[in-house]
Formats: sequence, C-alpha cells, structure tokens
Amino acid sequence: MTSYDVCIIGGGIMGLSTAVFLKRLDPAISVCVVEPDPSYEFSSTLRASGGARRLFSGPENIAMSNFSIDFLTRFDVEMAVDGEAPAIDWQEQGYLFLVPPTGVALLEANTRTQRSLGVEVILMDPSALKRRFPSINADDVGAAALSPRDGWCDPNGVLQGFLRKARATGAAIIRDRVAGLDASSGVVRSATLASGGSLDADTFVVAAGAWSPQVVASIGMPLPITPMRRFEHYFTTRTPIEPLPFVKDLDRLAFRPEGAGYTGSLVNSDEPRGFNFDVDHGYFENTVWPALAHRFPAFEATKCHRSWSGLYEQCELDGNAIIGNWRERHPNVYVIAGFGHGLMHAPAAGRGIAEMIVHGAFQTIDLTRLGYDRVLNNTPYRELGIL
Ligand SMILES: Cc1cc2nc3c(=O)[nH]c(=O)nc-3n(C[C@H](O)[C@H](O)[C@H](O)COP(=O)(O)OP(=O)(O)OC[C@H]3O[C@@H](n4cnc5c(N)ncnc54)[C@H](O)[C@@H]3O)c2cc1C
Repeated sequence: MTSYDVCIIGGGIMGLSTAVFLKRLDPAISVCVVEPDPSYEFSSTLRASGGARRLFSGPENIAMSNFSIDFLTRFDVEMAVDGEAPAIDWQEQGYLFLVPPTGVALLEANTRTQRSLGVEVILMDPSALKRRFPSINADDVGAAALSPRDGWCDPNGVLQGFLRKARATGAAIIRDRVAGLDASSGVVRSATLASGGSLDADTFVVAAGAWSPQVVASIGMPLPITPMRRFEHYFTTRTPIEPLPFVKDLDRLAFRPEGAGYTGSLVNSDEPRGFNFDVDHGYFENTVWPALAHRFPAFEATKCHRSWSGLYEQCELDGNAIIGNWRERHPNVYVIAGFGHGLMHAPAAGRGIAEMIVHGAFQTIDLTRLGYDRVLNNTPYRELGIL
C-alpha cells in the first residue's frame, strides 16, 4: 500500500502510542508508521531512564501522568496480543522532589494543584525527610515532596509492547525515512521517502522526536525543538542505603535504584544543542558524583560502571510538549514532540492526538494549551519550579 488514512512519521514511543490509540478508537482506519531504524539505536526512547511521575505544576501534565501511569500499571493487560503479555517491569517506588528553602512556597502550591487532581503527595520538612530517608543529607533542603504511587519501568518493554500491539491491530510499520512533506497542491497529501518512493495520506503525524523539525521544514512549519544531549550512568556503592524512590534533587540531579545499583545523572540545561552522542567519561566523576555524595554521603565511595548519552527533544519555547496542529496553514499535520520527559506521557499524548484525528477534538484530557498555537503566538506555557 502507498496510501493511508494516517501516516505517522517516527516509530518511537510517541508514534507507536498514537498508532495504537488510533486503531483502538477506529479499527477501520488505515495507519502506517514510518521508522528508519528497527534497532532504535539513537532513538530517545531506548535511552530513557523510565521514570513516570505526577509531580508537575501544569494540570495537563498532571492529568497526562495520571492516565499514563495508570495505563502503565495495566500495560500487560492493555497491550496483550494473543494472550501474550508484554513485561515492562513497573516499579512503584515513588518520586522524591527536593527543593531549597527558596522553593518551598512553590512546592506547596504545586502540591495543592496535584492533590486537587487526585495525586497522593506527602510534603516533608527537612526533619521528616531525614526520618523517612536516614541516609539523606537534608541540611540545605527546604522541603521535599514524595509521590508514592509514581515509579519507573523498562522503556524497551513499553516500546516493544506498543509496537507489537500496533502491528497486531493492523498498523503497517514501514522501514524508511521521511525526507519531506509535499504541500505543492496547497494541502499536504504525501510524504517523500529517503528510499525514493512516497506515501499518500489524509493526515500526517510528526512523531520524530528530536528530528521532528527536519520533517516539517519542507512545509515551512517552524518547530522550536532542538536535540539536547544528556548523559545517563549506572553506578553502585558498597555502603547500604535504604530503598530509595526516584530522587530529583536541586540542580537537576536525578537518579533511581536499578538492580544492585542506581541509574541517573545531572542534566546540564546549557548543553550545546546538536545531534551529539559522544560520551564525556569525566562527567560522572566531575559533575554527578559530587552532587550525589553531597546529598547521600553513602555515595562518597561509588563506582560508575557505564555511561551513555541520549537526546532530549527539548522544546526551546517553554520546555513543554507540542501536541497539536497548525490549524490555519496545515490542519492535517499533527505534531507530537518536544516532551523531554515523554516516556511518562506517551499513552495520554498518543490518545490525545488520536482523539483529534478521529473525533476532531480532545475527548478526555483537554490538551489545547499544549497545542501549536502557542508556538505561532510566541506564548510560552511553562512548568513552574519543575524541570
Ligand atoms: C538519558 C535520557 C533519560 C530519559 N529519562 C526519561 C524518564 O525517566 N522518563 C521520561 O518520561 N522520559 C525520559 N526521557 C525522555 C524520553 O526518552 C523521550 O521524551 C521520549 O522517548 C521521546 O519519544 P519520541 O517517540 O518522541 O522520540 P524517539 O524515541 O527519539 O523516536 C523518534 C523516532 O523517529 C525516527 N525518525 C527520525 N527522523 C525520522 C524521519 N525523517 N522519518 C521517519 N522517522 C524518523 C527515529 O529513528 C526515532 O525512532 C529520557 C531521555 C534521555 C535521553
């Protein structure tokens, strides 16, 4: 087939989630997913740490987490194919946000928003924090928020589960790269492929992660998304520490338990943008380790076993995802990109785009404020106090 109702560009977590929800909402719809690399070598999804939290300030992000985390806890049932259930190893060990004294008021305000949306959050002052996690150094902490129902999972398990379900429900997975979209007739009707052919469709979904701006450049659609490299490390310590949640510390240190050790890093927001996958093998020792050892002295003697890099698909407008279409110019081209923390929102965002395509509007969570209009109007919609 070279003609589909919907052509999804990019077969990472966003593209596959969209395909699954499209087929769920309308089994008769014909869907293809174009993905150049079946190994997903450089895709952000396989490099993610798998964390999923409800600790946001924006109601849309909290609502997306509520749906997505619930979905992930039922993933084996939801994505089973022929009685075979995918394993994503969901660990409900919670998320812990630490803020300095200057961040306490905002943390409390965010907690109120989260609770109003049904999120279970425990606020702790430094002494309560220390009682709950005796290994922590709470000296410079103003307050902490713990969301015990959050956790993490295996990103590859989620990706493969979505992929299998998309295929089983009739989505075609096409191995190719979209070189550009063709709007020469005034409306985007086809995608040109790197292999030389083309695909026609009524609707296109741009789900190419950090590569998304390249896809829409051909139709003059500005997309303020850039590739931002970040490192991830697997490390251990011999000094025992009590079971920890996913810890998000001041200055963007973020890590969680993994097997006999831990995985995480310290995100450098000033990282030069670009498709750079080089690994700085001094980064852990020079930057991550001092922050870790400061927060948990048990990490004074730690060993980093492995470091890797991956790309955040960073939305430079405001750090939030872009979920929607350019209604005036290219209404049949939808974007689902720019998350930076997209694994945890993929089920809800994919469902949202599917609702827009099938029903013409969001049906469950109203994601209008995360739409493309804010790019055109240059009106950022930022998270408050949360990166
Ligand atoms: C180190 C690291 C840790 C992270 N940790 C977390 C975390 O704990 N929790 C969380 O929620 N998120 C996390 N993230 C973010 C998360 O991984 C991403 O937000 C998410 O995977 C984005 O999914 P995607 O499908 O948009 O992008 P991708 O997974 O990158 O998929 C995009 C796909 O598009 C394909 N593509 C590119 N160009 C084209 C083209 N021209 N035509 C067709 N296809 C194309 C690519 O091959 C790729 O497979 C982390 C990211 C990194 C790098």
